[in-house]
Amino acid sequence: MSDKPEKFIDENGLRLDGRKLDQIRDVNIEVGVLARADGSCYLEFGNNKVIAAVYGPREVHPRHQQESTRAIVRYKYNMASFSVEDRKRPGPDRRSTEISKVSREALEDQVFTEYFPKSAIDIFVEVLQADAGTRTAALNAASVALADAGIPMRGLVSACAFGKVDDTLVVDLNKDEDNYGQADVPIAMTPDGKITLLQMDGHLTPEELKTGLEMAQEGCRQVYEVQRQALMDHYAKMQGETAEETEAPSVEDVVSDEEKVASEDVSTVTEEVEEKVIGESVKEEPEVKEAIPIEEDEENEVDGETDEEPDVEEDDFHE
Ligand code: UDP
Repeated sequence: MSDKPEKFIDENGLRLDGRKLDQIRDVNIEVGVLARADGSCYLEFGNNKVIAAVYGPREVHPRHQQESTRAIVRYKYNMASFSVEDRKRPGPDRRSTEISKVSREALEDQVFTEYFPKSAIDIFVEVLQADAGTRTAALNAASVALADAGIPMRGLVSACAFGKVDDTLVVDLNKDEDNYGQADVPIAMTPDGKITLLQMDGHLTPEELKTGLEMAQEGCRQVYEVQRQALMDHYAKMQGETAEETEAPSVEDVVSDEEKVASEDVSTVTEEVEEKVIGESVKEEPEVKEAIPIEEDEENEVDGETDEEPDVEEDDFHE
């Protein structure tokens, strides 16, 4: 573990990593990174690296957890042994159980669980690299993965912490600020400003709490923009790819290509016939072109494309 820095904020009002007091770390999001999950997301929040996978709505196992009127939401936060400086003992511990519980509660209300009675929506988040703020990074990734899975939600959840170092409020604490600071307050909120997670470690006055919340809310709004943009980019890209894949060649393309081949064949044949057997009169004969089954090929191609498309996702949901 690194030593406590002498001071966290320099004479220019900048923090040790060069950020302003109200500046969050860079957020990068990649949507749909896991082929076998219904929804997934890889997210970097500064030096935090997390991956989230969502499965469901699907059957509940064990069955006694099943709710007759709604889906249950389960959330599993796990920190990889190699994600931190001093190797973390693998497996669940009190910290990960607590983070899983509060994160589930932060997301659950945003999901229209009543649409999927007797089913489960499972969220798994793996922390691959940690640098303070992993629960907020994990929540941001989970929220995007839920959207990627097509789970109907009231809104995305965006999360970001604020805290206090050198008696000054700062947003989105890094590792040293988290370890040696005076307070750490992770929050999560919806785009309309409803807070779904608020924890507090340390001491703050009511005024500091109020100001800090406003700072973190602005941070959440910035995270939300990145989440939204990542989803939009992903679906624009997917739509483009699907359009390219499913786009049947136009009738003109098929006909003209086939005709081209046909006419080449025909001209070779007719030239040969012309030379060897029949003489000049066959040269203009058009029927040979029509004998080539252009339309049958064209139909097969178009049908083949459309037959493969439907039902794959629906089957996955009811596995
Ligand atoms: N951490 C660690 N080992 C652990 C747990 C946490 O080194 O077993 C580090 C890790 O970098 C983490 C930071 O301490 O991001 C702060 O942890 P905290 O419990 O405050 O949760 P977080 O801020 O990550 O949500």
